[in-house]
Amino acid sequence: MQMDRVDCVVVGAGVIGLAVARRLALSGREVIVLEEAEGIGTVTSSRNSEVIHAGIYYPAGSWMARMCVAGKQALYRYCDEHGIPYRNCGKLIVATTPAETEKLQSIRAHAEANGVADMQTLSGKAARALEPALNCDAALLSPSTGIVDSHAYMLTLRGEAEAAGAAFAFYTPLERARATAGHIELEAGGEAPMSLACDLLINAAGLGAPAVARSIEGMPIALIPPPYLAKGNYFSCSARAPFSRLIYPVPEPGGLGVHLTLDMAGQARFGPDVEWVDSIDYAVDPARAEKFYPAIRKYWPTLPDGALMPSYSGIRPKIVPPAVARQDFLMQGPADHGVAGLINLFGIESPGLTSSLAIADHVADMAGVSRAPRRTSA
Ligand SMILES: Cc1cc2nc3c(=O)[nH]c(=O)nc-3n(C[C@H](O)[C@H](O)[C@H](O)COP(=O)(O)OP(=O)(O)OC[C@H]3O[C@@H](n4cnc5c(N)ncnc54)[C@H](O)[C@@H]3O)c2cc1C
Repeated sequence: MQMDRVDCVVVGAGVIGLAVARRLALSGREVIVLEEAEGIGTVTSSRNSEVIHAGIYYPAGSWMARMCVAGKQALYRYCDEHGIPYRNCGKLIVATTPAETEKLQSIRAHAEANGVADMQTLSGKAARALEPALNCDAALLSPSTGIVDSHAYMLTLRGEAEAAGAAFAFYTPLERARATAGHIELEAGGEAPMSLACDLLINAAGLGAPAVARSIEGMPIALIPPPYLAKGNYFSCSARAPFSRLIYPVPEPGGLGVHLTLDMAGQARFGPDVEWVDSIDYAVDPARAEKFYPAIRKYWPTLPDGALMPSYSGIRPKIVPPAVARQDFLMQGPADHGVAGLINLFGIESPGLTSSLAIADHVADMAGVSRAPRRTSA
């Protein structure tokens, strides 16, 4: 087999691989994206809530907090510049008991420590003036939360990457790689197997990132996190939900609670919940609705019986087990693992979509690609 030489290889054409490929290509680097599926964004990037998160809850100073706040601003700007549909609809965090009301102040203080400076505390009456169907004692309004058409976003990233010279190889799984002096040799399978040598390899394989790292000879095994899978199930609502903002309960230990998000057409969906699983299966068990009804009725008492319908699910690429409440993005470069030219992106769960442009900038920094992105369109 012929061994072609290429500058950068990105493994994975989810939103993270696409943002990274665009960033590198706009900086003048030669880029090939290897994707085992038939197209872009077919895995976790099309199985999420499409929320542009504000950055409220993540631990101060964490990568999630920093990437989310920077990524949110970059994403709104990018959507404006490229005509990508989004709605800066805002979100309400709703307290329905006095104990929850007490927690709102610390949530707001935490958000402010993360650089989310626009949170507003509302009385129950003020919150109901915004959302009359709401049951609530008090609420926090997050004006910078929004929703985005993630497919339009990914198509635009791909278009910009290709316009700047990036090439995409679909049905092309990375099977193994070997770090040698000065470059990384790769073997990809699929219908047209190929061997490549590259200077820079970005592992943006999402749920597959730990497996890709394990397939790289020379990558220290001890530094590869074990993969865990936390499924998030969604239920759609046959009744028209009378809300124009996203509605979240006050978070409970272990999760954000059953919340309401809206798609770009204004249709409500509830979830995702958290179901730890051993293998990838996206079927939604209808029985899980039984836990959704009472949780939703705390803030929307008139949710009709029988309104919830199993919808879809996504799987969070966890790198910590259930007993560990929080994980952070794990972005490893040569300084961390000693393999020249290799960057691994592990555990890119929510807010990965929101953070994607900031993560791409960070990857470029780690790779020493410092030139600011050149714009291809107004
Ligand atoms: C339930 C849920 C809800 C979420 N909600 C939000 C939200 O509202 N807002 C937000 O900001 N974030 C959200 N997220 C997080 C966000 O969806 C992810 O962070 C983001 O989609 C991750 O993108 P990715 O490119 O890393 O992974 P993926 O989209 O999974 O892409 C990885 C790609 O790598 C490919 N691949 C894997 N192995 C190989 C291989 N060996 N060779 C070639 N290709 C390979 C896969 O086919 C896939 O296309 C949510 C996540 C989940 C699970």
